[in-house]
Amino acid sequence: MEYISTRGKVGSIGFIDAFMMGLANDGGLLIPKNIPVIPVETLQAWSKLSYTELVLELFSYFTNDEIPKEELKQLVEASYSTFRHPEVTPVTKLSDDLYLLELFHGPTFAFKDVALQFMGQFYSYVAKKKGVRINILGATSGDTGASAIEGVRGKDGIKICILHPHGKVSKVQELQMTTVQDDNVLNLSVDGNFDDCQRIIKELFADLEFKSANDLAAINSINFVRILAQIVYYFYAYFKVADNIGTTKVNFSVPTGNFGDIFAGYMAKRMGLPVGKLILATNENNILERFIKEGVYMPGDFRMTYSPSMDIQVASNFERYLYYVLGEDPELITKLMEQFKVEGEISIDGEALAKVQAEFAAHGVLGAECLATISSVKTDANYLLDPHSACGVAAAKACAAPNELTVSLATAHPAKFNEAIELCGIEQQYPEQIKALFDKEQRQTRIAGDKDAIAKAIEVFYKG
Ligand SMILES: *Cc1c(COP(=O)(O)O)cnc(C)c1O
Repeated sequence: MEYISTRGKVGSIGFIDAFMMGLANDGGLLIPKNIPVIPVETLQAWSKLSYTELVLELFSYFTNDEIPKEELKQLVEASYSTFRHPEVTPVTKLSDDLYLLELFHGPTFAFKDVALQFMGQFYSYVAKKKGVRINILGATSGDTGASAIEGVRGKDGIKICILHPHGKVSKVQELQMTTVQDDNVLNLSVDGNFDDCQRIIKELFADLEFKSANDLAAINSINFVRILAQIVYYFYAYFKVADNIGTTKVNFSVPTGNFGDIFAGYMAKRMGLPVGKLILATNENNILERFIKEGVYMPGDFRMTYSPSMDIQVASNFERYLYYVLGEDPELITKLMEQFKVEGEISIDGEALAKVQAEFAAHGVLGAECLATISSVKTDANYLLDPHSACGVAAAKACAAPNELTVSLATAHPAKFNEAIELCGIEQQYPEQIKALFDKEQRQTRIAGDKDAIAKAIEVFYKG
């Protein structure tokens, strides 16, 4: 498989080069040159595999032969050995037609671990193999940062700098990032919101001179490898709940911020997995809900909510989907993204909008509905959802027709977001690993939301 850019000026490049490039050098996003379609017989064979076996089979369509099989196997096994559940991403039943895909059994208790523990191993592998230095730069709404740091802390040849919005992540998210004492980790606590953090790092990645002088590498979902690792669990969950592999249709409901996770579901569908509806759940920051319902992509006012990891207005992966839905035309995407930069809006209508609405349903979950869902699922099923997963369940209930099978993605453990759980009058037990965070010393640098100040701080850190 080779990789190209949504804006048409990069390509074709190999798998490791795509991984290392992160954001495409023309400012677009990298995508596979074509999407492999998995035959039904292969799906049936895959349905009997363990999680890590499935990872290896699926990756083989995307990695070329750039990584020797045995080495890839070791990387994958090391990546998932730190998960607390033997199935890695187990599925549990909430009611007759609604299942939960638990994605929070990794070391930092959120779904980001599924991709980032692998990416940590993979960066380390590439650093050794190619003898290069790798300086990871990422922005986080809370969970990516903790997971990426956990994946590379203390590793030789790798440094990591994470920008998080000051005061806009949960207490546990902040502690997970800032209590790591390894010298290869820098946390910048930025005055601003996640969109500011993401815009600044995208600008730094787009500055090719800065990028190469500082050996920058990306862990955000602008990196295609992150999407790739997330495609796996859609297949895995499908195999757990479908009676007839290849025939039964299954909806997926996905709590969404940057459109990364749900884009992985879209890829799974394009690869031939019988996905029914992709249900997009948002909170009050509902730009994507409005896009699906009205065809207008236009950031609104930023709101703080009970689900901070979804407090995002500008969804970087949206460009990948736009590329596919508008007929894979890089010139058109370049024009639209430039127009978006100037006018702050993209709209589509007619056939394109009909296509979007055939593929996606959407529901914006307001705070009260989020808390009510946490409470009712606790009462009815004795299951404690975190506020993001609750948005997914609420959207599944709003968008799935009776008798349709739906898998809702449980993207985080409730202990990460006690702020919301407390408001439901529920007292939860923290896992030991989270309890222990409260006694540790924090390390972070508060910084203005200014690109030049941030560029200077990370340069000093990477060169030091
Ligand atoms: C990151 C995150 C999301 C949103 O995922 P995207 O890939 O950005 O759409 C949802 N829930 C939790 C808990 C997250 O950490």
